[in-house]
Amino acid sequence: MKIKKTCPFCHSATESIWRGQLFLECRNCHLLIRNADLNKTDLDRLYRNSWAHPFSEIDETGGTTDRLARNYVAQLLSSLGQKHFEGKVVLDYGAGRGSMSFALQEAGAKVLAVEPYGYEFLSDHGIQTYKSIADMPLDQHLEGIVSLDVIEHLVEPWKDRKSISK
Ligand SMILES: [Zn+2]
Repeated sequence: MKIKKTCPFCHSATESIWRGQLFLECRNCHLLIRNADLNKTDLDRLYRNSWAHPFSEIDETGGTTDRLARNYVAQLLSSLGQKHFEGKVVLDYGAGRGSMSFALQEAGAKVLAVEPYGYEFLSDHGIQTYKSIADMPLDQHLEGIVSLDVIEHLVEPWKDRKSISK
């Protein structure tokens, strides 16, 4: 296998694992990298274009179906030994088209969402949405954070993880 790029996280060598240079894996930390040549500007353009057609670009705007989201919420409640999320504030980070947000609301949670591209879509559907974590009030109390099908869309996911935990 031909080594082309360095890992954006630990700067070690990567190797192709599938489809030439489309999918790379870091030899050190095993970070999987898709489309290493895309930069933030390219991604921004891609997602803005996708959100211009949210119902025809569902792979980019919301791959999690409503049924799947309800199953995730049921599993989450079960694993927490809870029957509902009444009185709990939960953040849906990278909420996409809101399937998880709606399923959490059905289970009683007050849901806040962070979704930079689907901000208007979610707001129009009644979800309190912020464009970024930095837009949320600093004193916002949360009982939980969910993030589905998001990490693979982030350029530097370790930075998002840090900003969420502050
Ligand atoms: Zn690495």
